[in-house]
Amino acid sequence: MSISYWLDQSAQKNALHYDYIIIGGGIAGLSTAYWLQKKDPNLKIAILEKHGVGYGASGRNAGFVTAGSTEHYIKLNAQFGTAKATEIWQFSETNRKLLLEHVIEDAADEVDFRHTGSCTVAPSEEHWEKYKTTAKLMQSQGIDVHEVTPEEMHKDYGVTGFVGGIQYTGDGYIHPIKLLQRLRRKLHAEIFENHEVFAIEEKSGRSFIRTNHETFSADKVIVTVNAYLPLVLEEFASYVKPGRGQILLTQPLPAFVKGPCYLTKHLCYFRQLPTGELLIGGFRNLAIQEEETYADNTTEVIQRALLDFVRSHFTLGKDAHVAYQWSGLMGYTPDMQMILGAVPKRKNTYVIAGCSGHGMGLSFNAARTLVENIHGVALPSNLDIARFKF
Ligand SMILES: Cc1cc2nc3c(=O)[nH]c(=O)nc-3n(C[C@H](O)[C@H](O)[C@H](O)COP(=O)(O)OP(=O)(O)OC[C@H]3O[C@@H](n4cnc5c(N)ncnc54)[C@H](O)[C@@H]3O)c2cc1C
Repeated sequence: MSISYWLDQSAQKNALHYDYIIIGGGIAGLSTAYWLQKKDPNLKIAILEKHGVGYGASGRNAGFVTAGSTEHYIKLNAQFGTAKATEIWQFSETNRKLLLEHVIEDAADEVDFRHTGSCTVAPSEEHWEKYKTTAKLMQSQGIDVHEVTPEEMHKDYGVTGFVGGIQYTGDGYIHPIKLLQRLRRKLHAEIFENHEVFAIEEKSGRSFIRTNHETFSADKVIVTVNAYLPLVLEEFASYVKPGRGQILLTQPLPAFVKGPCYLTKHLCYFRQLPTGELLIGGFRNLAIQEEETYADNTTEVIQRALLDFVRSHFTLGKDAHVAYQWSGLMGYTPDMQMILGAVPKRKNTYVIAGCSGHGMGLSFNAARTLVENIHGVALPSNLDIARFKF
């Protein structure tokens, strides 16, 4: 993309200048603005967003405020060892506490926040044995998990056909857009919607940010465009890949799902909204290559699998009618951990990206961590951009 001299509204005057420019108006971008202004209320901050605030994954997700499933802990444990796996889990616990303390406060109803816990359901005896062993390990680490019998799963979550489940008491769910709106009201940053950034150039110690409307300048730039990062900074092409996620929402049903659930065999998750709609997402495993795309559309094969799941596993879902179907893009790194920090070989440019399917459970704390890093505090090794070669 490029912009002509005639179209560039800043070409015949000085570019608008800010201390910080944040690119991307999702949960990561808004959270970064929040922590920057907390550090220094006098900072002049702008957020540049291609569409509208929350138009990306932050306004399209399932709203799990999550540390993850039992399966997620199993993977972390295999990848990093128990101590680091627990530290990563606790990072999300801190994220939830910070969201409650700084954003949700006493307005849980305003943002539809419910502290329900979450449940990882076991589809086979093999999964169930693995989950029970992991639950014991998690308990030994101070993580509050316990076993749920098939009878309890039916009573509390309305599902049949599972061997058991592991409940983690920490998680909850939220209305993602209402959360963003509340966070936005706390910001004094100027937000420029419908501003697509197509280049960041460095001249005389300043960054010039070219958009489809005008050019801005800033002392520091923080790029929080998640899956789209390689389209803004091409050196990230090997480190952040897009992955589409799809969701189906039914017409309202009687209340029967107590809280968010994971069926990780199908990368599947579900919950019921306070107004009764059953939300179910996942099944990317059915078309994993096709879902590695920037295209924002739903597909027949995945939506069919989601509806089949509703009809076959939920007692009250047999005659459910579809109300909404949508998709959104996640950003994945090679090791499934976020990337935070100063971009090598560029001056004053930082990133937050790659929060996969966990951005609501990570980004508020990740933004705080990046802002601390800009002020000299070391990054956790699993998040540090320095683990990749540029
Ligand atoms: C279907 C689905 C379900 C999910 N469910 C959950 C869940 O239940 N719990 C959970 O924790 N996480 C979940 N996630 C993941 C979570 O939504 C993301 O990790 C999180 O929203 C990422 O936030 P972000 O601010 O980094 O990115 P985004 O929300 O994607 O924001 C990036 C923004 O950058 C803008 N942008 C892109 N390019 C440019 C440009 N060139 N110039 C200017 N702006 C630009 C985009 O328009 C977008 O608004 C889910 C994701 C999907 C897709």
